[in-house]
Amino acid sequence: MTSSSAPLAASLVTRSRVGKRLSLIAPCYNEQEVLDLFFARIDAEMAKLAVDYEIVCVNDGSRDHTLAVLLKHHQRDPRVKVINLARNFGKEVALSAGLDAAVGDMVVPIDVDLQDPPELIGQFIAAWEAGADVAYGVRVDRSADSPLKRFTAQGFYRAFNRLSDVDLPYNAGDYRLMDRRVVEVLRQLPERNRFMKGLFAWVGFRQTPVPYARPERAAGTSSWRYWKLWNFALDGITSFSTAPIRIWSYVGAVAGVLAVAMAVFIVARTLLFGRDVPGYPSLMVVILMSFGLQMLAIGALGEYVARIYQEVKGRPLYVVMDRYGFEAQEPA
Ligand code: UDP
Ligand code: MG
Repeated sequence: MTSSSAPLAASLVTRSRVGKRLSLIAPCYNEQEVLDLFFARIDAEMAKLAVDYEIVCVNDGSRDHTLAVLLKHHQRDPRVKVINLARNFGKEVALSAGLDAAVGDMVVPIDVDLQDPPELIGQFIAAWEAGADVAYGVRVDRSADSPLKRFTAQGFYRAFNRLSDVDLPYNAGDYRLMDRRVVEVLRQLPERNRFMKGLFAWVGFRQTPVPYARPERAAGTSSWRYWKLWNFALDGITSFSTAPIRIWSYVGAVAGVLAVAMAVFIVARTLLFGRDVPGYPSLMVVILMSFGLQMLAIGALGEYVARIYQEVKGRPLYVVMDRYGFEAQEPA
């Protein structure tokens, strides 16, 4: 559970960054324009922090020259390591690939478009030294997003928190620092459907928020569209709540009770006042409504069955084509 009571428990713990390693995980999809800028900012920031680090870049099947740019930086600085996925697997999976490869005692997933300001890393590490196992960035100002995006995001958090029993902190993204222990727990989660925000909250540990203003993308374009966001929201809710399928028993029960009441009413009315004119319109309304409700219920069921099917197939989460800069090569 994410809590702000963390500092109390945390005061018992003191850690030091000395001798520890930090892993940054940077998923990259069509980011050739922004990568030079990203590495320049990271280098400048890391120089101030006095901590040993690596940057695990995951090329998520980019169609532009992202890989070439990443390899250029790998050649310049061996701390830049590159995992080249066999195709585009999506950010969540690219992140998981990075988590599997990172060796740091502290791990920070970071977007390369500089929407996750590198200056925050120092605050994250300070929170970790003060005892937090997870220090997560919270956007205090979403004015960079369109009003529609803000509105839908808020609706999503509200629905998610009501339906599931983990609490997603409002406006927290993937940008955070995690202790090695937390990363190990995340890596053990077997599900293929990786709704990272939810999994991050599910693991628990001592979590501390770090507020920041989220800037606009430095260059390039966001690859998120509304349809994708909708599916993302569905993934999130279905993997953390069964309410959308359980609710249909109750809808059915209410409809059943209404039907009985209606039957009693019609029988009584016929006995008292004789037979009425056949009620065609009311019949149509009832038929159409029950048809719609049944389709909705079957659809909700389908969402879960499809996800069970995906999990049961047990395919690996991602396929790595090449790795650059890692000591141990993937076993063939
Ligand atoms: N990304 C990825 N695979 C994808 C889509 C995005 O690895 O299929 C990466 C992208 O390169 C960036 C991060 O995920 O580093 C966030 O993507 P984006 O900026 O498009 O998302 P937004 O900031 O709009 O949520
Ligand atoms: Mg972005």
